Amino acid sequence: MYINEEKISRIVIQTTEKPVQYDLFENFIRKSPFVRQIAFIGKAIFDSPDVIKIIDLCRLKSIALIFGEMAENVPFEIIDAIVNSGIVIAVNLHDGDKNIDVLNELKTKYQMPIPEVNAIIKTPPRTPQDTLSATSYAFYNLADDKNNVPCWNLLNEPMIDYDGSLLGCWTNPDKKHPINAFDLGIQSALNKSPFLNMIKMLKTGKINVQCPCARCPVFASFIWSDSTIDVYSRTQE
Ligand code: SF4
Repeated sequence: MYINEEKISRIVIQTTEKPVQYDLFENFIRKSPFVRQIAFIGKAIFDSPDVIKIIDLCRLKSIALIFGEMAENVPFEIIDAIVNSGIVIAVNLHDGDKNIDVLNELKTKYQMPIPEVNAIIKTPPRTPQDTLSATSYAFYNLADDKNNVPCWNLLNEPMIDYDGSLLGCWTNPDKKHPINAFDLGIQSALNKSPFLNMIKMLKTGKINVQCPCARCPVFASFIWSDSTIDVYSRTQE
């Protein structure tokens, strides 16, 4: 099994806990030439003193950005850079945030069709997974959410933590991650055996206790419902 990076052009970076460090991010971009889109999930990206440098680097490399959750106190110069860069395709903000108006005014000023400005409206949990606590072990409702299982992330938008740890998906239950994508670049990271083992488990249903999937309620649901998932299907032509 070998993963061809050219087919994996979208990456998700989780910044719910901390922002990314610029020098590590820059190394990752240099070693990952086929990345064309990055979504930052979590407000902490705006705690970085280098967020404008990150936007500038992505503009130079023609990498589109998504900010999954903008913090409320983001300085005007960062919002200005987001709109003026022309590479941020979407920004999500909480409903009622005054920055919704600021973003829309700047789009008019710079005559920019992007970013798409989306208000986050709180919705009730749809599946047991949405309310999962650190100690609970809920059955993931595959019947309700068949086309949106977190495992699709693995090869469609692999998720990386703020420090470069390759999580693969947003539900990865393990705290220690053996692969650092910021050090290796995305192709080398995705071809390391701990990540390939996650894919193998989902394709075969055969449990490997070294794998985070072996401790995940989503995988338990596959076993329970006798389902397997083809993680390649959205990336293969
Ligand atoms: S089964 Fe594996 S890939 Fe799927 S959600 Fe769980 S940890 Fe992620």
